[in-house]
Amino acid sequence: MRRKLIAGNWKMNGSRAALAELDGIAAAATRAPEVDVAIAVPFTLIAPAAERETGVSIGSQDVHGAAKGAHTGCVSAAMAAEAGARFSIVGHSERRADQGETDADVRAKAEAARAAGLSAILCVGEVLADRDAGRAEAVVTAQLAGSLPEGASGEWLSIAYEPVWAIGTGRTPTVEEVGAMHRAIRAELRRLVGEAADSVRLLYGGSVTGDNAAELLAADDVDGALVGGASLTAAKFVPIVEAAAGL
Ligand code: PEP
Repeated sequence: MRRKLIAGNWKMNGSRAALAELDGIAAAATRAPEVDVAIAVPFTLIAPAAERETGVSIGSQDVHGAAKGAHTGCVSAAMAAEAGARFSIVGHSERRADQGETDADVRAKAEAARAAGLSAILCVGEVLADRDAGRAEAVVTAQLAGSLPEGASGEWLSIAYEPVWAIGTGRTPTVEEVGAMHRAIRAELRRLVGEAADSVRLLYGGSVTGDNAAELLAADDVDGALVGGASLTAAKFVPIVEAAAGL
């Protein structure tokens, strides 16, 4: 039985003052004990967020694939863990696009996260041209095969399906499209890692809000959500947590 996971991604937003939002989010998490609630904050906020000890799992939005070395401006998984992170997002489409991260980079990042004791949320997703051309499933399953780390299992890994065209746009795929993609991801995972595939949580991400969360979370094989814009305030994020809990 896979627990639901609702994870927020603050991207390059937030400040120490914004950490007060975590208190409202934590209160909702307490009312929804069957749901895991997590927020990936900017690196600079990991320590103060973790020190608040709200019970919300705090994570980073990226880690480097190497354990240490001459990588100016980068942060290793062990550094994020020492600051208080318990998980990291890896392979977000904004990093794949803006920083040119390849599937091999993403795989290394996920493995580095695991080596440092972090869980990982590995993102995959097609651009609109792929969907329009009818190759969305082929693109996403190829991304998955290319970026899946060694030892993939639900003990430490979740996969987030995030169609690039749905991120921050207010557009979402239909429930049927989400379900079909999650079934394809699950099938590819089974092909790649066998039975371990069944423990891996599959999250949907892309313009999830309090208004559409219940519907999207009810799609086939959806174990939770990765939420960008609507994770920045408790007022917007709490209804998504509540939807996952059926409240
Ligand atoms: C994201 O960037 O992971 C995301 C899902 O963003 P949004 O919810 O704002 O579409």
